[in-house]
Amino acid sequence: MTLFQSAIWNPRGQKAPVIPHTSIQIFREVPEFRTWRRRQLLDHRSVGLVPTMGALHEGHLSLIRMAAAENHRVVVSIYVNPTQFGVHEDLGSYPKTWKKDCEMLRDLDKEIAGDGGNLGTVAAVFAPTTEVMYPSGRPSQDVDGKGSFVTITPVGEVLEGASRPTFFRGVATVCMKLFNIVTPEKVYFGQKDIQQTVVVKKLVKDFCMNTDVVIGKTQREPDGLALSSRNVFLGTRRRKVATTLSKTLRVAETAYSRGRRSRDEILGPATELAKLLLMEQHQMPPEDRVKFEVDYVSLADPDTMEELEEVDESRGAILSGAVKMLPVESPQAGEDLGLSGGPPVRLIDNIILKPVG
Ligand code: AMP
Repeated sequence: MTLFQSAIWNPRGQKAPVIPHTSIQIFREVPEFRTWRRRQLLDHRSVGLVPTMGALHEGHLSLIRMAAAENHRVVVSIYVNPTQFGVHEDLGSYPKTWKKDCEMLRDLDKEIAGDGGNLGTVAAVFAPTTEVMYPSGRPSQDVDGKGSFVTITPVGEVLEGASRPTFFRGVATVCMKLFNIVTPEKVYFGQKDIQQTVVVKKLVKDFCMNTDVVIGKTQREPDGLALSSRNVFLGTRRRKVATTLSKTLRVAETAYSRGRRSRDEILGPATELAKLLLMEQHQMPPEDRVKFEVDYVSLADPDTMEELEEVDESRGAILSGAVKMLPVESPQAGEDLGLSGGPPVRLIDNIILKPVG
């Protein structure tokens, strides 16, 4: 350990706290974090950033593992960013599991330290308050709310951006802030949120930011459901039906792998399956069934996310979808409805159709 690494002192002369039984430092303020960051630079240590909203799961951990393999120091940010939630969305109920997150990071750090194949360790958690992230005050979550925003259009306006008009503005704004604070050599994002990866790549390119965007593959439950912090809201009944989206996308992927290239040939069978699964549920009694709405199933260009009529196989495409799982009807006594009584849950997922040849 160098002299610089041995202790980080904040301007008030206090040592930065650590996650118990680890050397992972917790930073809540920008100046202390910058002091730490400067020391990494002077020590020629590379820094990888994994931005998260907490409620960590295996999807987040897989990104942290990737980051530890490629960087000396991994910084995990944990911040539930209010500006990416619409006015009527679940900001208030978004799961916050700080203690469990710290335990998961502690265990992961042990695992990483024991695996000789890694370059680095989990060095720091950056967990700022909203006052720190929005020094001029938190801007409105309204579509035409005023504030200092970064907007990435048109890619941020389609698909998820059409359903959630302030979402990518909030994401791009918070990423710009995090990248300016952390100045990471590399940043890690999950393919699970594919449109977000396209928006972030564009942010980095168009604002000439000095970081590499690395994408980690989607982690799934054994039955195919993509891991998500919001899955805890599903409860037992809806969890069983939550694979509808991944099944629907797989059918479209199979059509592509069998040589189909037109939109109708690829999305047709997927739409049919979604209809069939919906009908199956409708035919069940209210105390057993699950209602869901398909928001969209998309076949889009990998760079612009514009809808395609035909896939150019030298470029491939992105299949993606969103499904809203509605609260269960006629809940049964003792039924596990999910966290917060089982509110509506919006699930998203995607598959990359790889270029051929
Ligand atoms: P979130 O905390 O939901 O904002 O996610 C933080 C990061 O983890 C984002 O880059 C997500 O794309 C990524 N992520 C979320 N779920 C998964 C998953 N199932 N597999 C891989 N990465 C994921």
